[in-house]
Amino acid sequence: MSEKFQAVIIGGGPGGYVCAIRLAQLGFKTACIESRGSLGGTCLNVGCIPSKSLLNLSEEFHKVKNLSSKGIEVGEVKLNLSKMMKSKDKAVTILTKGVEFLLKKNKVTYIKGHGSFKSKNEINIKDADNKELTITSDNIVIATGSVPVPLPGINFDEKIILSSTGALKIEQVPKKMIVVGGGYIGLEMGSVWSRLGTEVHVVEFLDHITPGMDKEISEEFMKILKKQGIKFHMQHKVEKIKKKNDGAIVFTTDKDGNKKDFDSDVVLISVGRKANTDGLNIKAADIELDEKQRIKTDENFKTNQDNIYAIGDVITGPMLAHKAEDEGIAVAENIVGQSGHVNYDTIPGVIYTTPEVATIGKTEEQLKDENVDYKIGKFSFMANSRAKAIDDTEGFVKILADTKTDKVLGAHLIGPHAGELIAEIGIAMEFGASSEDIARTCHAHPTFSEAVKEAALSVDKRAIHS
Ligand code: FAD
Ligand code: NAD
Repeated sequence: MSEKFQAVIIGGGPGGYVCAIRLAQLGFKTACIESRGSLGGTCLNVGCIPSKSLLNLSEEFHKVKNLSSKGIEVGEVKLNLSKMMKSKDKAVTILTKGVEFLLKKNKVTYIKGHGSFKSKNEINIKDADNKELTITSDNIVIATGSVPVPLPGINFDEKIILSSTGALKIEQVPKKMIVVGGGYIGLEMGSVWSRLGTEVHVVEFLDHITPGMDKEISEEFMKILKKQGIKFHMQHKVEKIKKKNDGAIVFTTDKDGNKKDFDSDVVLISVGRKANTDGLNIKAADIELDEKQRIKTDENFKTNQDNIYAIGDVITGPMLAHKAEDEGIAVAENIVGQSGHVNYDTIPGVIYTTPEVATIGKTEEQLKDENVDYKIGKFSFMANSRAKAIDDTEGFVKILADTKTDKVLGAHLIGPHAGELIAEIGIAMEFGASSEDIARTCHAHPTFSEAVKEAALSVDKRAIHS
């Protein structure tokens, strides 16, 4: 007889493992199936964590090399790339093992193998040795995440034609890298390799980077990255990529039809990710997909089948780890009969470059489209005393508030620690705060967070330090 669970989650990423822990906390007999051999999903294994580790290490390398201008003389600074990669791998191992410990602590059964539907309540699991097992469950949550999108006809070999996974484990600093796509991955990984000495060229289809982000932030961001040495080729379409023994040629056409070829050691394709439903055999459970081949769900994360749910990158919405986690908690609470909920108006997005870029809520462009009257408060880090004290003054804070009610509708930051500063605005928005609420909150001095307070003051044109 197959073992029976009250809930089974397919996929052990930030959506899946968090959902499994919450269900176990709520008293359900729960299992989590993961095929990659370690928990934590894309995020911990080949995404958020290794990329942030390399962003940090490459930034430290870059900073140390430039310390003498600040009166700190260091000897010759040399890069040991294999040691740097080991340091990154260590961070990944510690965290993925940590998740395994958390599942054990919460009495979640961790099943290693590839899960696929046999019926609406049965899942077949095949392990690495091709041994098969069938389990049954009252409730099933699909949390199988996403995979990189290749360009048509161009396969990833992860040596010359790289997805983000390959870009996280290059063995020798390439002389030249073409990054196709100026979004989250292209700009984070482009920054890493640029700081380590690679000549990085970003080829982008649109006339701006980071589509969907507030335009003013996106323009400032590109200006800063250009100053750092990254080269941008906007409104260029990649026609084909020809591999050579020691690299590749990327053939592009710009908006006026001019052709330009880029010779390169490696090419990073970062043009987005797609929902991962491969090998799930969703037909056996008769589960519907949406127009983008993602699992279709209602507002309670339920699919067209009453006992089957889906969360994270495999459904609609931003492909972010914290969005997947929050959905994991909400769906677990819904399954046990509580009222799980995710507020999609307050999901922050952060790009961990230097400086960091952080965004939450509506952009100016969205407010214009929606005919909402808004006020803008802006404050530059150039006028922030902490930023001045440590000579880290690039960027600004921008707060958008409703003209009539003063309610904060969105905030967009570029600057030091923007990814941490955005949390304050997230909480304010969750509580329906006005810009005046932020402006009247005492912020410690000297901190970067004073720039948030000053931007809030500036909504009503009463910033003190500008
Ligand atoms: P995933 O993390 O993709 O996990 C799904 C898991 O399911 C995988 O481990 C997969 O092996 C497993 N699986 C799939 N099919 C099956 C099956 N049939 N049986 C068993 N197991 C299966 N987001 C952020 O918020 N912040 C960041 O800084 C950030 N950085 C990123 C950097 C990179 C380079 C990349 C690629 C992504 C980054 N992301 C970041 C996005 C983030 O990784 C994803 O949004 C997040 O991992 C989605 O979580 P998930 O649980 O939905 O899916
Ligand atoms: P993305 O959607 O962020 O950016 C893709 C970029 O490629 C866009 O600028 C798009 O206009 C461009 N593009 C698309 N097709 C193109 C083509 N044929 N030629 C040239 N340019 C083209 O996608 P991504 O960078 O691959 O990242 C995928 C997702 O992973 C992100 O959307 C994000 O959700 C997640 N992620 C998050 C973080 C973070 O939170 N810090 C980091 C990395 C990845």
